[in-house]
Amino acid sequence: MKTRKFILSEKEMPEHWYNITASMTNKPLPPLHPGTLQPIGPEALAPLFPMELIKQEVTSEKWVEIPDEVRDLYAIWRPSPLYRAYELEKALDTPAKIYYKYEGVSPAGSHKPNTAIPQAYYNKQEGVKRITTETGAGQWGSALSFACQHFGIECEVYMVKVSYDSKPYRKLMMNTWGAKVYSSPTNHTQAGRSILDMDPNSPGSLGIAISEAIERAASDEHTKYALGSVLNHVLMHQTIIGQEAVKQMELAGDMPDIVVAPFGGGSNFAGISFPFLRLNLEEGKHIRCIASEPASCPKLTRGVFRYDFGDTVGMTPLLPMYTLGHNFVPAPIHAGGLRYHGAGVIVSQLLKDKLIEARSHDQLECFQAGVLFAKAEGIIPAPEASHAIATVIQEAIAAKISGESKTILFNLCGHGHFDMQSYEDYFANKLVKHEVTAADIADSLSKLTTPEIA
Ligand SMILES: *Cc1c(COP(=O)(O)O)cnc(C)c1O
Repeated sequence: MKTRKFILSEKEMPEHWYNITASMTNKPLPPLHPGTLQPIGPEALAPLFPMELIKQEVTSEKWVEIPDEVRDLYAIWRPSPLYRAYELEKALDTPAKIYYKYEGVSPAGSHKPNTAIPQAYYNKQEGVKRITTETGAGQWGSALSFACQHFGIECEVYMVKVSYDSKPYRKLMMNTWGAKVYSSPTNHTQAGRSILDMDPNSPGSLGIAISEAIERAASDEHTKYALGSVLNHVLMHQTIIGQEAVKQMELAGDMPDIVVAPFGGGSNFAGISFPFLRLNLEEGKHIRCIASEPASCPKLTRGVFRYDFGDTVGMTPLLPMYTLGHNFVPAPIHAGGLRYHGAGVIVSQLLKDKLIEARSHDQLECFQAGVLFAKAEGIIPAPEASHAIATVIQEAIAAKISGESKTILFNLCGHGHFDMQSYEDYFANKLVKHEVTAADIADSLSKLTTPEIA
């Protein structure tokens, strides 16, 4: 019998998160205060985040210990399985070997609990009563709701309106775990009201929902804010995925030539790829790491590298990143988790230095890839994850044409069980090929007054 599945025991679960900045020659540029344009110190983040997470945000330590209580809860579903995709290889008739790490086995159905749990844990340690957050597709909101209820913290979620309307069961999941969920933009924050004044029918965006959640946290001393992607500490928490995958690829007696993951703000991409990039940076390996993004929100492939706000209204520090401009409101495509205007600072620096690659796919190509994968391997991928599958298919076909044997690993970062409406729309031919125009990008970028980077 062929081995399809590579499993680690609980004891083999990594004991540390990996901080890639310790291995990078060019460190990311510092975040700036939007008023003074001076680098901000960690204390500027204190109203929003507990101190331990702020320390992790700026740490230069390479390995950060995972608290026992966090590993204990991770053990509900971790280590997650790694599969060899024999059936997909057959369907593509490719000589390439394809593996995937499956994060859909978590209670919330994606990689997001890997960071939700430690974030809730450190907030609990510091006596925080309530956490606010935003959610796009609902994956992050449900992960944080799950984590908060475990630690007895109230959770308040601003859910992007298009997803709130199209994904009622994600909302109910959050309610089941005890969270309050609002359709963003709301009229109970200034940020939300300012957007609704301009466009009462705004579909919302992650940037807007972030502004609302931050405003709530900043105005109450017992309330903090949590972000599900982009920030350094979030990316670091996700590196448990790649560390497990390195061990599992060893079990399989293989090593990837290419590592692929979908890209929203960069956390699941960082999670799977950074432990492999470490082998490039420290041990001279040449593993290609490719981030897959939507053609309708292509910050890595068509954005600019400059300072920009992380939210729409402009409440965050200025971050040096690839961005489409913080005013950019992506089309309401179904991969809600990828509708974000910017990219994490570390991932942006790595792309600038050409240490990673990026590629974009339109939504029809992604659903086609997702359905092909579901038919072959059985698991129905989240629409976000299908972006990685589209890249994998291109690479597998390239291997077939060139006759090269390639090993490809990708992150199947979540299942699509709460995204079946989007599959229905795809089957009913209601989805159109959507690629943002050059004029739309230029228009959004022309409004930026934030500092450029030479
Ligand atoms: C949130 C999410 C993403 C995108 O966010 P990243 O931080 O880039 O990982 C991708 N896939 C799924 C399933 C998600 O929940």
